[in-house]
Amino acid sequence: MEGLSGLRIGLGYDVHAFAPDRPLILGGVTIPHHQGLAGHSDADVLAHAIADALLGAIRGGDIGKLFPDTDPTYEGANSLKLLEAVAQFVREQGYEILDVDSVIAAQAPKLSPHREAMRQNLADSMGVPVDNVGVKATTTEWLGFEGREEGISATATCLCCRISS
Ligand code: MG
Repeated sequence: MEGLSGLRIGLGYDVHAFAPDRPLILGGVTIPHHQGLAGHSDADVLAHAIADALLGAIRGGDIGKLFPDTDPTYEGANSLKLLEAVAQFVREQGYEILDVDSVIAAQAPKLSPHREAMRQNLADSMGVPVDNVGVKATTTEWLGFEGREEGISATATCLCCRISS
């Protein structure tokens, strides 16, 4: 590691709309709910926000660039697999993933019972210890699109460090 000068932070944000007849998958956990999120992949908004945070830290573009939604390969894709590929890409670019934190904004359903399973899935996917992955959830007090239960947003940050070669 190059010390502090090698540190990079990344920020990721994603939104998916609710749609009927879709499973609700967050952090790779299928959560019982009367509706799920619409999307080309499995619409795991949390995994997508974290993937974009990782790419932000290495100035590597975004997941839309790496995994275009026009590509049929990614139709219904397991987003934990996409996150795994992004983490691999980050390492190939010479960076180590040090720490990740995230927050999901959803009025419903209640997400805290699923927090630890989400953390474990995301940590396994990125190949980092579960201690280095934070997942939080908040409602928006019935305000905005999340509050009206039209969709869910997720925001993530990460800290990466360039590994000297
Ligand atoms: Mg997305």
